[in-house]
Amino acid sequence: MSNLDKYYINGEWVVPLSKTKMNVINPANEDSIGEIILANELDVNLAVAAAKSAFSSFSQTSKEERLKLLKALLEISKKRLPELAKVISLEMGAPMTMSLELQADAAVGHLEGYIEALINQQEREKLSNGDVQVREPVGICGLITPWNWPVNQIALKALPALAAGCTCILKPSEFTPLSSVMYSEMIHDAGFPPGVFNMIQGDGPLAGATLSKHPDIGMMSFTGSTRAGSSVSKDSANSIKRVALELGGKSPNIVFADCDLEERISGSIEECYINTGQSCDAPTRLLVERSCYKEVLKIAKRVGEAVKVGDPAQEGNHLGPLVSDIQFGRVQAMIEKGIKEGAKLLVGGLGKPDGFDEGYWVRPTIFADANNKMAIAQEEIFGPVLTIIPFDSEEEAIEIANDTPYGLAAYVQSGDLNRAERVAQKLRVGMVHINGGGFNYGSPFGGYKQSGNGREGGIIGIEDFQEVKTLHYPE
Ligand code: NDP
Repeated sequence: MSNLDKYYINGEWVVPLSKTKMNVINPANEDSIGEIILANELDVNLAVAAAKSAFSSFSQTSKEERLKLLKALLEISKKRLPELAKVISLEMGAPMTMSLELQADAAVGHLEGYIEALINQQEREKLSNGDVQVREPVGICGLITPWNWPVNQIALKALPALAAGCTCILKPSEFTPLSSVMYSEMIHDAGFPPGVFNMIQGDGPLAGATLSKHPDIGMMSFTGSTRAGSSVSKDSANSIKRVALELGGKSPNIVFADCDLEERISGSIEECYINTGQSCDAPTRLLVERSCYKEVLKIAKRVGEAVKVGDPAQEGNHLGPLVSDIQFGRVQAMIEKGIKEGAKLLVGGLGKPDGFDEGYWVRPTIFADANNKMAIAQEEIFGPVLTIIPFDSEEEAIEIANDTPYGLAAYVQSGDLNRAERVAQKLRVGMVHINGGGFNYGSPFGGYKQSGNGREGGIIGIEDFQEVKTLHYPE
């Protein structure tokens, strides 16, 4: 990829000032797939200066002008979808079918959602007291994205920033630089003016922190771990930036005995394992009503053992590897903890699956007979590891579900929709999936508690990137 060792600044691909190289690794076989340069402070400052000089004109563009640019990007995104899917699969190991249908598809789906939201948003509203409220871009935005859903996360940040009239600097995860280079090329080809969108490659502690501390940046939008989100908030505090955070989760999935057990348990395991378990909203705690507990374990064992891992370059519904050796080590350490804590290993366990010696492969794993105090029930594992916990009553299920520092998503399975809604109302989370209901583009995505603040997607996602100004007129 020709621009992999460059940054996109002020509408051009530029050679970095930094000389610090990093090898990009294919997680399926540990082969090198290229080299990036990790930005230093001077590189970050150049990108911020470009965004600053573009802000004065781009912030004054009309909604129609911005819609035209976003619609041009939509056409390009549709055309380059298969290429985007290929690079995502190569850099982070998502199997091709899933990479095309979910990972790359987000570039189109979120963009359609934001175009509709921008059309429907009233940027100027007359209040009942006669004053006028207008919405304006918040300023220059720093966008920091992770490796697990690389394009999805870029789309959820860059698109609302551009829709609102902000200028921005993207720092993607250094583990997934290929898709960010391709996305920057797409933005360039759509005709966004120089400096409106800029992209640097770099690590969190240097490039990320320089963005968060930069006095010219008005807002940081971050997705990643709660630990790094806390650092972004601290680094942003001195300059009183707006900070939007989309962080981790340990989402409960409450299974009542009156649901279609066969269908809902296999659906729940599939949902937990999707993207090899590397999703912030994965339903990783399966809370099961005791009256159907034995039957659920039987289904879970059969379904879990049938899950296949395989080459991400191939189509199919198998799982790929984890993204990196660091993540492989973290997931192994958590499986070991679960065993030591005394949870029952129902499926999988430590080590790599047979025949997968090269690459960051893990065995899809299910723990049963766990309790909610165990580390495997409290900590985000970020691998294909499910923890099953029994409960006796609806109240107890709600108590266990809410007994976590996180509050991103929850899942409820019940044949009684009144009960499902009653339970959903008592869960301290940003999103509740009922009986397999999936996420739709254009809806708000985000969490309560230590899962973050703000919402991505839809009108509320654009509002995160806007300031409100009130105009007072004489009576
Ligand atoms: P991080 O949160 O550390 O990384 C996510 C992004 O934030 C990367 O671009 C990273 O750069 C950057 N970053 C890290 N530290 C800072 C900082 N101080 N200031 C600014 N940016 C920073 O996640 P990891 O990749 O280390 O994964 C660790 C765990 O985080 C996972 O096991 C998982 O539990 C969770 N996670 C959650 C995600 C989610 O979607 N909510 C996404 C990814 C991870 P760098 O890589 O250089 O550190």
